[in-house]
Amino acid sequence: MSEPGVLFIVSSPSGGGKTTLIREVIGRLAARGIRSHFSVSHTTRARRPAETEGIDYHFVDRAAFEGMVQRGQFLEWAEYNGHLYGTARAEVEPRLADGWDVFLDIEVQGATQVKTAVPDVVKVFVYPPSYDVLKQRLTARRQDAPEAIRQRLRWALRELGVAGEFDYAIINDRLDEAVDELLGICTAEHQRPKRMKSRLDAIRASYQRALEGDSP
Ligand code: 5GP
Repeated sequence: MSEPGVLFIVSSPSGGGKTTLIREVIGRLAARGIRSHFSVSHTTRARRPAETEGIDYHFVDRAAFEGMVQRGQFLEWAEYNGHLYGTARAEVEPRLADGWDVFLDIEVQGATQVKTAVPDVVKVFVYPPSYDVLKQRLTARRQDAPEAIRQRLRWALRELGVAGEFDYAIINDRLDEAVDELLGICTAEHQRPKRMKSRLDAIRASYQRALEGDSP
């Protein structure tokens, strides 16, 4: 029987570059034969022009979102910047059971909830290298007005305050290095004995069988 997949949370302040990072890592893992899925969240925020329903998010209204909360359909959910965001169990649980790794791009409140529901989760925090770099990235993407950018930067400071509780830290200065670091974390997590149990048990059983068959 194959092992369940690994659940990875990748959090960072908005503009920290985590979406690009996760997409790149999923491609590199696929090249190594490790199947992984980038979870598509539900949100009540309006779709941005460059976004596609079902690929970037499932865009729903508040009533639909709250209905899903009531039916216990979310692994975690949180309010961020006046909008609701949540990870549906259906995005995650069947894939983990099939042995796929799953990546969640979620903010820190949600990350804490997942740790309670799935203690085995691996939490990675991606740090933008400095305040100035984050401000510059947020300004360059021309998505937010100056006041919204200031609000995101203030929120970033709060997120950095809890980032020390994560399992791993990556400083996203150069994308290629950050990709290598996240890949390193993913591959190392697969080498934990608890995640290799059936294969390790089979090796041990082969020793047992061989030694039982041996005459002294
Ligand atoms: P944005 O609106 O810029 O796409 O995302 C805003 C924040 O919401 C980001 O930090 C993103 O990681 C977070 N986010 C996206 N999906 C989810 C989710 O399903 N749950 C939680 N808790 N946060 C999410």
